[in-house]
Amino acid sequence: MRKSMNRRMTTNDRGGQSHVEQPAPATANDDLKALIRTIPDFPKPGIQFRDVTTLLLDRRGFSSCIARMARAATGPVDLVAGIEARGFLFAGALADRLGAGVLLIRKDGKLPGATIAEDYALEYGQDRIAMHADACAPGANVLLVDDLIATGGTARAAVRLLRKAGARITQAQFLVDLPDLGGAAALREDGVDVHALVAFEGE
Ligand code: AMP
Repeated sequence: MRKSMNRRMTTNDRGGQSHVEQPAPATANDDLKALIRTIPDFPKPGIQFRDVTTLLLDRRGFSSCIARMARAATGPVDLVAGIEARGFLFAGALADRLGAGVLLIRKDGKLPGATIAEDYALEYGQDRIAMHADACAPGANVLLVDDLIATGGTARAAVRLLRKAGARITQAQFLVDLPDLGGAAALREDGVDVHALVAFEGE
């Protein structure tokens, strides 16, 4: 958005005109942002936990969130891939709207069939996510969804995993982006079209 849109012409004391800084205009998704609760110091001191369960509880808010995600979806979508666990909720509802199937990306060891897996770094140590090896046909158009992107470690591993299976990632969508942590930017550098409805920046 151009900076000039934050300014408004006003008449000053001497009758001339001056530019006065106005607060940033509300964005289209501020109603959804207001439904997300922030819990300080969870799960450890210093973390501002963006709790989307309060949005999920609001039937209008959740429905509107899914409708906006569906509107933002680009290209043909064969499968919506959701990341365990909150990502499943958005993936299921979004897939239904888009007429697509749902692909589960789970913590390693939870899926019953033959799997492929991908490791990713945590602040301390490593984690591993997996999907069924036969879940997606090579060339399938896959939209990746999770509730939130922070450092991007989880979503980037999911993208590597899906690409290993031959998927074409059409887009990655999130309800919340924490841009200060750089995950969305890193995902874009991986060649993924990233879309988030709400951002908490410098808050
Ligand atoms: P990351 O891999 O750092 O992008 O973290 C993404 C995952 O961790 C998402 O599935 C989120 O649900 C969760 N997460 C990370 N940071 C937060 C936060 N500040 N508030 C809520 N959930 C978070």
